[in-house]
Amino acid sequence: MDNCLFCKIIKGDIPSAKVYEDEYCYAFRDINPQAPVHVLLVPKMHVANMAEVSLLPQDAQTALFAAIGKIAAQEKLENGFRVVSNCGPDACQSVHHLHIHILGGRQMAESMA
Ligand code: 5GP
Ligand code: ZN
Repeated sequence: MDNCLFCKIIKGDIPSAKVYEDEYCYAFRDINPQAPVHVLLVPKMHVANMAEVSLLPQDAQTALFAAIGKIAAQEKLENGFRVVSNCGPDACQSVHHLHIHILGGRQMAESMA
């Protein structure tokens, strides 16, 4: 997608602080972190959000979900972490390339919304 911010980050056209990469996924630090660890995990193939995750090939879906635990271990989030993916306007999704927020490094609020 020519006009997609995260596609540009994946291509390296816009710089990012890389945390993890494999054949199907890329992960980088959020520019405006909401917690001591705030990583954005994205599939390299453009899909808009979680409502479209089934459009990814099966291997890419598997890699995406498997990457969450790998990143959490790499970031030493052994005390826990939160995974969030905003989907659509009610969830305030601001970048329309599927991304999974991985948040940790502090006690999270009990309320998620
Ligand atoms: P959303 O609101 O769509 O769930 O999350 C988008 C996230 O992307 C936000 O947390 C925002 O801080 C992050 N973000 C927006 N632009 C950039 C950027 O250019 N670089 C990085 N690393 N993160 C960005
Ligand atoms: Zn994209």
